[in-house]
Amino acid sequence: MNVETNRDPGTVARAWLGAFNAALAAADASGVAALFRPDADWRDIVALTWSIRTTSDRLPVAAGLIRAAAETGARDFAIDPDRTPPRLVERAGETCIEAILRFETRVGRGAGILRIRRSDAAVPGAAPPAWALVTVLESLNGFEEETIREATEEPAFEREFHGPNWLDRRRAAQTYADRDPAVLIVGGGHAGVTLAARLGALGIDTLVIDRMERVGDNWRKRYHGLKLHNTKHSNHFPYIPFPSTWPRYIPKDKIANWLEFYVEAMEINFWTRTTFLGATYDEAEGRWSARVADAATGERTLRPRHIVMATSVSGTPNLPEIPTLDRFRGKLVHSSGFTGGEDWRGRTAYVFGTGTSAHDIAQDLHGAGADVSIVQRSPTLIVNIEPGAQLYDGIYYGKGPSLEDRDLINVSVPLRVMRVAHKLLTDEARAHDAPLLQALEKVGFRLEFGENGTGWPLKYRQRGGGYYFNVGASDLVARGDIGLLQYADIAEFTPDGFRLKNGEARRADLIVLATGYKGQDHLVGRLFGPEVAARVGPVWGFDEADQELRNMWMPTGQPGLWFQGGSFAQCRMYSKYLALQIKAVEEGLV
Ligand SMILES: Cc1cc2nc3c(=O)[nH]c(=O)nc-3n(C[C@H](O)[C@H](O)[C@H](O)COP(=O)(O)OP(=O)(O)OC[C@H]3O[C@@H](n4cnc5c(N)ncnc54)[C@H](O)[C@@H]3O)c2cc1C
Repeated sequence: MNVETNRDPGTVARAWLGAFNAALAAADASGVAALFRPDADWRDIVALTWSIRTTSDRLPVAAGLIRAAAETGARDFAIDPDRTPPRLVERAGETCIEAILRFETRVGRGAGILRIRRSDAAVPGAAPPAWALVTVLESLNGFEEETIREATEEPAFEREFHGPNWLDRRRAAQTYADRDPAVLIVGGGHAGVTLAARLGALGIDTLVIDRMERVGDNWRKRYHGLKLHNTKHSNHFPYIPFPSTWPRYIPKDKIANWLEFYVEAMEINFWTRTTFLGATYDEAEGRWSARVADAATGERTLRPRHIVMATSVSGTPNLPEIPTLDRFRGKLVHSSGFTGGEDWRGRTAYVFGTGTSAHDIAQDLHGAGADVSIVQRSPTLIVNIEPGAQLYDGIYYGKGPSLEDRDLINVSVPLRVMRVAHKLLTDEARAHDAPLLQALEKVGFRLEFGENGTGWPLKYRQRGGGYYFNVGASDLVARGDIGLLQYADIAEFTPDGFRLKNGEARRADLIVLATGYKGQDHLVGRLFGPEVAARVGPVWGFDEADQELRNMWMPTGQPGLWFQGGSFAQCRMYSKYLALQIKAVEEGLV
């Protein structure tokens, strides 16, 4: 098939799709391989593999696609006429043609992204090889959200005025007096409730439990001055986006109240003051026995078919062993227990750590009139909140595609391309931030910029932290208004502070350990036992072979156990694919 030099993006994409459909239908491995660059990637999200997986390089991509198409009946790849039309875009420094696709499988409808480098499309006489193909599951045939909603719609006429009304039914549904939920979600932050909304839309009986007293307390009880760090553009919830009148950086109590509103509006069954104590799995029945403790009514065992852990990718305070710290007699608190600086006016505080919480807390203490220093243990990534930190969310800014299309494009960037893109963006951010970074180095702050200079988002995905979006604390450090000390210079702690290796004694009224959090896998052994923990393995952080976050939003080694979490954007996007997988299991499709 010939593709001429300057054809429009749609023509190039259609030519590629024609050749691809034919080669796939014929299971022609060399034909499919010829349609990909040697360094091409194929990312599948649930559509062709019932998992989330990236395959790299021409031959494995072709073999994988042929195998998956035979198993799933994937066919009829075409440009989706109802979505953003094919266009020229820049991705990781390359100009390319990007087309949004749709396709069919035996059980559902898929969506996809095809990306062809413009330089490849310009070669005359050759079919242009794709740089990336992404395939995602959009809906299951017969179980589309709209089909499910229609099926539960009450008749407009002949209404029953005396039976239970909507509120009666909502109240009854919440109690689970005579039934068990199909899905139990542990954790009711944005991760838990976005998934519950998606499962509800698919007609799956879902209960969210959280030990907090009131929905939103996970944000409400964080420190006084907290605002979200990404702008609202990328933080929307599924089904109900934030009002356009909202500020770009949403304050903590506003997001807390939004969570409460969202739970009500999306009719999410939610038990507050309820702690998940642990569960065992009955293989024969395919059900869990899950022990939950309600602060008011005591313990109860639920028998859900699925448990989703949404307890935060960084939820358990990390308290490192700090030799001789037990000698300190002043106030010692982990950042999660720090509520505000007001009580520390005129007193001396040291904040151990140089991540987000450490900087925010130091800034809060400084603003309250405390004499505060931060103590640095290891080099840290600093980026100004604007423009640097937001560069990576560029897809969500400006006029253009719908949020749904932007999300699809967002998930369509394979890890190795993301690394290239993020290196470029990090270089740009560093250039913007050069005066601040130089000033920090001058006062002895040790900097780093992520693995191979790829910046904060990949650090977040690897370890859930290790960076600070500067909203002023770094300027205070650079000016010396917030003191800076290297942890390695501390010799030992004393009852009223610590002594440095040079002999100098430092007095401290308060020490805050802003030493981060442990991930979800930390909880698995404790709550499900060592066998399940061994079957599941690490959660979060990349599996380099699959090039995906380990165990996130995909089947784990333990049937009926799933993990949901990450940023607002990740939870909005991947909650959809996780809900579809659970629906497919419930309907016996997989
Ligand atoms: C200062 C700051 C700013 C941030 N800004 C952004 C931003 O702009 N955009 C973004 O995407 N992310 C941001 N994040 C990161 C991340 O989105 C948040 O940390 C978020 O709270 C994670 O949501 P989650 O639902 O996964 O977990 P959480 O909000 O931590 O919720 C987990 C819930 O699980 C419950 N739980 C845990 N164990 C149990 C148990 N055994 N039984 C019952 N309940 C349990 C907890 O009570 C908690 O309510 C920010 C984080 C911080 C600290």
